[in-house]
Amino acid sequence: MTSNCKILIVTFPGQGLINPSLRFANRLVKMGVDVTFCTSQRVTDIINKEITPKGVTYAPLFDGHNLVIGKKPTSTFQQFLSDFATKGTCAVAEIICSAADKGQPFDHVVYTTMIPWVAHVAKAHGVKSTLLWCQPAIILDIYYYYFNGYEKLISSNNNNPMFPLNLPGLPPLTMADMPSFFLKESGRNDHEFILSIYKEHIDVLKTAPRILINTFNELEAESMKAIENIQFLPIGPLDEKDAYGTPDESYVNWLNTKPKKSVVYVSFGSVARLSSDQAEEMAIGLLNSGRPFLWVIRDEEEATKLSKIHELKKQGMIVQWCCQVEVLGHEAIGCFVTSCGWNSTLEALAAGVHMVAYPQWSDQGTNAKMIEDVWKVGVRVGKKEGNVVVEGKEIERCVQKVMGDEKISVNVLKWKNLAKKVVEDGGLSTSNLKSFVVDV
Ligand code: UDP
Repeated sequence: MTSNCKILIVTFPGQGLINPSLRFANRLVKMGVDVTFCTSQRVTDIINKEITPKGVTYAPLFDGHNLVIGKKPTSTFQQFLSDFATKGTCAVAEIICSAADKGQPFDHVVYTTMIPWVAHVAKAHGVKSTLLWCQPAIILDIYYYYFNGYEKLISSNNNNPMFPLNLPGLPPLTMADMPSFFLKESGRNDHEFILSIYKEHIDVLKTAPRILINTFNELEAESMKAIENIQFLPIGPLDEKDAYGTPDESYVNWLNTKPKKSVVYVSFGSVARLSSDQAEEMAIGLLNSGRPFLWVIRDEEEATKLSKIHELKKQGMIVQWCCQVEVLGHEAIGCFVTSCGWNSTLEALAAGVHMVAYPQWSDQGTNAKMIEDVWKVGVRVGKKEGNVVVEGKEIERCVQKVMGDEKISVNVLKWKNLAKKVVEDGGLSTSNLKSFVVDV
């Protein structure tokens, strides 16, 4: 299929949104679409233009911040979101107008989660837009229910983790399975602000109910049917290898020396950080498992502070970053200790990797629930009552439990095969993407 249309993709500059939207851009380019990819300049600077297919034009945006992956941000998330919206509104308007002035207007704008204001900018300039939702369908359903009739029920029980929530069309949940922004105990102060962003997303869907979503039909069929007012167009899994920086061969060479399915891969995505107490417990769990491990600790300083750093380096490998899709696809990987970010979850499902779910915030608790109880591809770590951290022996228990577990093996293979099928020619995710492009 070849298309002559021109699409502007605007992405919030978080790793969990850049990766799926860039993969989406690459798929569009392969279909002949002329794509402009707009996000913060520090992101476009490190995208390896040699690897990304020709056809993507980058439109860097100056967000006024100097965020570095692995380092603590110097401003609050709220401040960053607000500045990104202010600078982004002007930048996106200018990109749209200047393309129109040159006689090459955009046919459509696609924008990611966290930046609903893009829809307003596009509309003001007469261009239609579509949300690319980068979390599971069940999460959008939950937010939809919260802002459409369930706010009181959820808010008035948000300090009771065991409170049962039976939301129409969704699996039975408890308050502990809800996105962290609803939970009183999660202790972050940006809840209200973040909830207002999700509300704006839902409001936009009143006039543009069709969304693209990084999931696939078999995985979330019920959740995608739960709400009549939202039309889900699943196009996932978006799980290609990323085009970032220069490839580091050292950990691949190290993995190459390990037996099949022997290595524990540990990563907490690009946002969450373990407290030093929790990192010490993780170290105990990994050391006591007796297994080789590849552990991503984004901040080098945090790694060097670990009391058992010498033993850790003997038994495993610690890196600041890796190409996760490549690692998950390596035959030496036996399980993934994950914070259950949506991309990590989907990438592991698509690669057929057993999971130890250790959710931190946002949608991760819900994803962990699905991993353990619905898709049955892993186990979730438990905290002792009153404990802030998960103990090393619990981490060890979960790792030993999932490694080689036969029931989990059967399930991961099922999801892996389905995930492969949907993105083949004739697969539903591929045909959905084609019909989206045709409609544009
Ligand atoms: N990732 C990676 N290398 C790492 C850690 C993470 O390539 O060492 C990628 C991972 O493949 C995923 C993204 O970063 O695509 C993280 O997104 P996710 O939704 O899992 O979590 P978040 O970062 O949003 O918490």
